[in-house]
Amino acid sequence: MVKNLSIGVLGIQGDVSEHVISMRNAFDKTKKANGEVFIVKYKEEIDDIDALIFPGGESSTISNILYKSGLFETIIDRIKDNSLPIIGTCAGCILLAKKIVGKTNDDLKLLNAMDIEVERNAFGRQKFSFERNININGFTKPYYAVFIRAPRIIKTSGNCEILAKIDKKIIMARQDKFLALSFHPELTRDTRIHEFFINMIV
Ligand code: GLN
Repeated sequence: MVKNLSIGVLGIQGDVSEHVISMRNAFDKTKKANGEVFIVKYKEEIDDIDALIFPGGESSTISNILYKSGLFETIIDRIKDNSLPIIGTCAGCILLAKKIVGKTNDDLKLLNAMDIEVERNAFGRQKFSFERNININGFTKPYYAVFIRAPRIIKTSGNCEILAKIDKKIIMARQDKFLALSFHPELTRDTRIHEFFINMIV
């Protein structure tokens, strides 16, 4: 039987509606599951979802709002329960980490979901944002990726699997039902990463 999934997109900051559209398009393409996708802003809504998307934005701002709104605790509880798969893009990748390496803001509370250490703004400032084709393990064709003040994953441990690198820098990793990306898959029409996530969680 085809599964029915409810996916929430965290609606605090960043490309929220773009992720909703990409995920809906991914559900249209895949036969693996049916799904509804909606924006979540309140902790009560976290109980109703099967998985969560953390868009990019400013990780310190997102972390702050998460914490003040009580969303942080609710999400942490479901991470500890192993009941909430998450895809984190850019700032979302930072929040999934256990540790930030280098200069950061002390207020930035991390979700500790993945055994990754990240460096913020690892490719430089806004003007050094870039787009390019990358190779992702298991994808048969290159993926055109958009990097905006992107972080990189410095180190992985445990059962964390590295899925893509550019110039030796890790830009995509998966651990159990968590997927961390330095770039923005919601900014192109290529839905393969959202489909990959669906496959991870069905
Ligand atoms: N540089 C941002 C941060 O550190 C992330 C940028 C993004 O999400 N596009 O939070």
